[in-house]
Amino acid sequence: MIPFVDLKSQYAGIKPEIDAAILGVLESCQFTLGSEVAHFEAEFAAHSGAAFGIGVNTGTSALHLALLAAGVGPGDEVVTVPFTFVATVAAIRYTGAKPVFVDVDPETLTMDPRRLEAALTPRTKAILPVHLYGQAADMDPLVEMARAHGLSVIEDAAQAHGAEYKGRRIGSLGDMGCFSFYPGKNLGACGEGGMVVTDDPTHARTLRMLRDWGAERKYHHVMQGYNYRLEGIQGAVLRVKLRHLERWTEQRRAAAARYDRELDGSGVVTPTARAYNRHVYHVYAIRTPNRDACAAALATRGIQTGIHYPVPVHLQPAHADLGHAPGDFPHSERAATEVLSLPMFPELAAEQAAAVVDALRDFAGGSDVRTH
Ligand SMILES: *Cc1c(COP(=O)(O)O)cnc(C)c1O
Repeated sequence: MIPFVDLKSQYAGIKPEIDAAILGVLESCQFTLGSEVAHFEAEFAAHSGAAFGIGVNTGTSALHLALLAAGVGPGDEVVTVPFTFVATVAAIRYTGAKPVFVDVDPETLTMDPRRLEAALTPRTKAILPVHLYGQAADMDPLVEMARAHGLSVIEDAAQAHGAEYKGRRIGSLGDMGCFSFYPGKNLGACGEGGMVVTDDPTHARTLRMLRDWGAERKYHHVMQGYNYRLEGIQGAVLRVKLRHLERWTEQRRAAAARYDRELDGSGVVTPTARAYNRHVYHVYAIRTPNRDACAAALATRGIQTGIHYPVPVHLQPAHADLGHAPGDFPHSERAATEVLSLPMFPELAAEQAAAVVDALRDFAGGSDVRTH
C-alpha cells in the first residue's frame, strides 16, 4: 500500500527528539502557552521573515483573529477564493462579515489578480488570498490593488510553510499571515495548532490579547476575546519539527520534480509552478477529466489519493445563503471535477513514486483504447 501521507514514518525518523520534547513539557507542567510556545513563536516568525508570531490553537483560529485584528466585522466584505478548504470562508463568517469570491487563475488555482477589482465594493475591508497546495498566490498585483483601496491583506498560508514568492517568504507579504499546524500540514503538531505572523506591533499586541480572553494582564479584559491558546506540548513538538522543515521541504520538491519529469507525456496534466515561486508541495495535484476513474484505478493498485477539493465553497450547502449557483466561478468548478492529489510526503521513496507513475501511465494509456 502507498499511503497519501505517512506520519508514522516521519515520527520514526525523529522519535527520540519528539519524545524528549514532550517529556520536557510534562516535567515543566507549562501546558498552555509557556516558554516552549514563546520560543516557537519567535523561531517560526523568523522562519517566515516576520517580526512577531502569535501561537493559537488552530489555523482556523489564526484566520479568525487576524480578521478581527484587521477590524473586520458585521457589514464588511472580505474577498477570497471559492477553491479552498472551507475554513478560509468559515473564519470570515465567524466575524459576521460577508465572503465575496473571486475565481482562481485556471493554471495555478490561486486568486486571479485580474478579477479582483470587479469584486471590490465600498464595504470591502480585506482580501484573503490562499497559497493553495503550497504555492504562493500572485501577491504583487493583489497587494498593490489592496493598498490602492486601503484594504488589509491577510494570507491564508495554512498549506505553505516556507514557500517563497519572488524570493520572499510568504506570510509576511501582506499585513498578517495565517498558518495551520494540523498534523497533515507540512509542519504538523501532535494535535492541533496555528499561528499568525505579522510585522505590525499593534496587530501583534491585539492578537495576543484576543487569543487569551482579551486580557491585557491577568483578569483585566479590555476586549471580547477567546480561548484560542496554543498548548505547551505542541509548541515543544513544533520547535523540534521546525528544525527539520527545510530538509522535508526539499524532499517534497524533489518528489514533485520526479513526478513532473516522469508524468511528462503521460496524458495527465501536472501542476503549474511559477518560476518566481518556491512551491512547497503540501499537495501535488494532477488534473484529468476522468478523475474518479483514475482514483479508482490507482486504488486497485493500493495507491491512496485525495481530492482537494471536490466541491468549491460557493456550492457548499453550508454557504447556500450567499446565493451562488453553478457557473458563477467556472475555473474553480472545473478544477473541483479534475484535480487528484497524489501521494506526497517527504519520506516518499523513489520506488513508491515510480509505482504511482506506472499506474497513472497505464490508466492514461488504457483509457484511450477502451473503446471496443
Ligand atoms: C488546514 C487549512 C485551514 C485550517 O487550519 P486548521 O488548523 O485545520 O484549523 C485553513 N485554510 C486552509 C487553506 C487549510 O488548508
